[in-house]
Amino acid sequence: KDYRKSVQAVFQDPFSSLSPRMRVGDIIAEPLEVHTKLSKADIKTRVGEVLELVGLQPDVAPLFPHEFSGGQRQRIAIARALATEAQLIVLDEPVSALDVSIRAHILTLLERLQRDLGVSYLFIGHDLAAVAHISHRIAVMYLGKIVEVAESMELCNNPKHPYTRALFAASLPSHPDEEKEELVLSGAVPSALNPPPGCRFHTRCPCVMPICSEELPELKEVEPDHWAACFLH
Ligand code: SF4
Repeated sequence: KDYRKSVQAVFQDPFSSLSPRMRVGDIIAEPLEVHTKLSKADIKTRVGEVLELVGLQPDVAPLFPHEFSGGQRQRIAIARALATEAQLIVLDEPVSALDVSIRAHILTLLERLQRDLGVSYLFIGHDLAAVAHISHRIAVMYLGKIVEVAESMELCNNPKHPYTRALFAASLPSHPDEEKEELVLSGAVPSALNPPPGCRFHTRCPCVMPICSEELPELKEVEPDHWAACFLH
């Protein structure tokens, strides 16, 4: 219970992560009822506080989730995660179900909350631009294994693992004149239930070598505080 109080989650789809039968105030109050001994009046005050923290008015508490837009619902989900003063919030693709224009608002809100409250995030995402924008440190996963870890700027400017390089090569450029590495992957992603032997990326890697299908490369520090799991390094 202590762990759950300090580690909360915000899920991808705010249309299914909020109960349609509960009022917003009750949704945010629920973790406080479970994890704290606050009185009803104090819980009501705290609900108003966290609604304001996420940019909503406290008087929306009696409304139901269907009365809000996607971005507002995600703010409610963030308010619920903040209610117990969590130290870590797991953000599971928190902006990928939202309109592009709303994404920037939610990312800006998350950054402000981190600055003001000192909360840590584990931000899970496929959108490299959003991940690079919000993260201080990035871990890249392929088929359930971490293949590269580094500080955000270092990883974006100096990706080492062929999979990370392919991800950057496939992302939209931030400017039409931006030069990008040509690295196109072929083949389908193998099943995570039955991953290939050796390096899990070897069936698609453009740099594959004979050892890659035989041995699993360990995650190694290839430059100061920059880790990669690849026989090229
Ligand atoms: Fe490619 Fe081999 Fe490195 Fe795996 S270990 S990423 S297959 S070069």
